Amino acid sequence: MKKAYIISTGTELLLGTTVDTNSMFLAQKLGELGLKVMGKSIVGDNRDTMTAAFKTGLDMADVVVASGGLGPTRDDLTKEVACELMGCELQLVEAELENIRSFFARRNRPMAESNRKQAMFPPQAIILKNRLGTAPGMYLAKNHKVVVLLPGPPGEMQDMYLHAVEPLLREDKRLTGPGSQTKIIRVLGPGESQIEDLLSGILDKGSDYGIALLAQDGEVLIKITADSGSNAASAGSRLEQLTHRIREALGLNIICEGDDTLAGVVANLLMRQGLTLAAAESCSGGLLSKMITDLPGSSQYFWGSVVSYSNEAKQVFLGVNPETLDKYGAVSEQTAAEMASGIRQHAGADIAVSITGIAGPEGGSQEKPVGLVYIGLAREDSLEVKEMRFVSDRNGIRTLAAKSALDLVRRRLLSGGAGK
Ligand code: AMP
Ligand code: MG
Repeated sequence: MKKAYIISTGTELLLGTTVDTNSMFLAQKLGELGLKVMGKSIVGDNRDTMTAAFKTGLDMADVVVASGGLGPTRDDLTKEVACELMGCELQLVEAELENIRSFFARRNRPMAESNRKQAMFPPQAIILKNRLGTAPGMYLAKNHKVVVLLPGPPGEMQDMYLHAVEPLLREDKRLTGPGSQTKIIRVLGPGESQIEDLLSGILDKGSDYGIALLAQDGEVLIKITADSGSNAASAGSRLEQLTHRIREALGLNIICEGDDTLAGVVANLLMRQGLTLAAAESCSGGLLSKMITDLPGSSQYFWGSVVSYSNEAKQVFLGVNPETLDKYGAVSEQTAAEMASGIRQHAGADIAVSITGIAGPEGGSQEKPVGLVYIGLAREDSLEVKEMRFVSDRNGIRTLAAKSALDLVRRRLLSGGAGK
């Protein structure tokens, strides 16, 4: 197995103001190609530490992938440092200078003289086009080592990696083999330990696969990795086999597989069944609506939501009875029910969901502790309320409330009882 090393450059990454997301992306992608990531360094825009990082990388690995520091300013040093260590000299490439000139001309802005630096490359390098910015990247193979330089802004870095670098690495059969195959299965409902119990038969790592559980934003991600050995097809069928067993064990608790999301699954179900959804949100403050409207085209099936935070808003916009609020309180089964049926009637939607709860940190009592959330679901012929008790901070409780409400909609749509 060939080895890779990742370097993230930029002083901002050391100040705690910018999170190094680039190396996460690269680690995942390089792993998918079957490269073993040996380590990563985060270094500032400093010649000495950058040089040390590249030395370590070239020492440990066959491929070193770095991001950041390809800009025009004095502290953009990555290319100089990498080329010096690879024993290559930088020369001006006219065609690149022209590209950068025209980038500025199209935006009607003058090109600074310092931008010339971005058009300097060693003759051995493959220059990688930056479709989203001015700094081109570089793929340099020499003496059985490969150095890849990518721009720092995550969008530019990812675009360049996917369009230019990945195909080059794939083509280089000395570097990449069939690789292992991975799949993510998202689960909502049972917690990690419960899932461990349900999957006890398969969780102990087999010789040719691994399963990892990871709690994230209220969901549990099951990550399956099937090793390919020398045979990519066998990894694919192993992955399918394991997925099948996990589906059998977890059933409806599985939200989705692969890149899909909870909101995406709900959206598809609503569209396929030709149904519309409306929401009334209290403690989640509009989070459920955000999750749905993050998807383009959601107006097809989403009526919208009322963020009814105060008692007054619950009465005025949803028609919740003041007596219900007086008698049972805003966080109660009864209020959740009236919120859901109220918004369904106003919206004329097929399904309505409501959320009311105590997100904390204050406002809890023995009877109604922080984390108590009621989720209502109204359809033409039915009305149900689910009581949930979440243990988390304010943010976590709001996220869990919104996701659980979406999940209730998903489960009901899947069990066929949408009750148009
Ligand atoms: P640079 O190409 O070094 O000028 O980087 C420009 C911007 O990209 C920085 O200001 C950061 O906001 C972002 N950036 C650079 N490196 C990273 C990284 N490793 N992870 C996430 N963002 C980054
Ligand atoms: Mg930088």
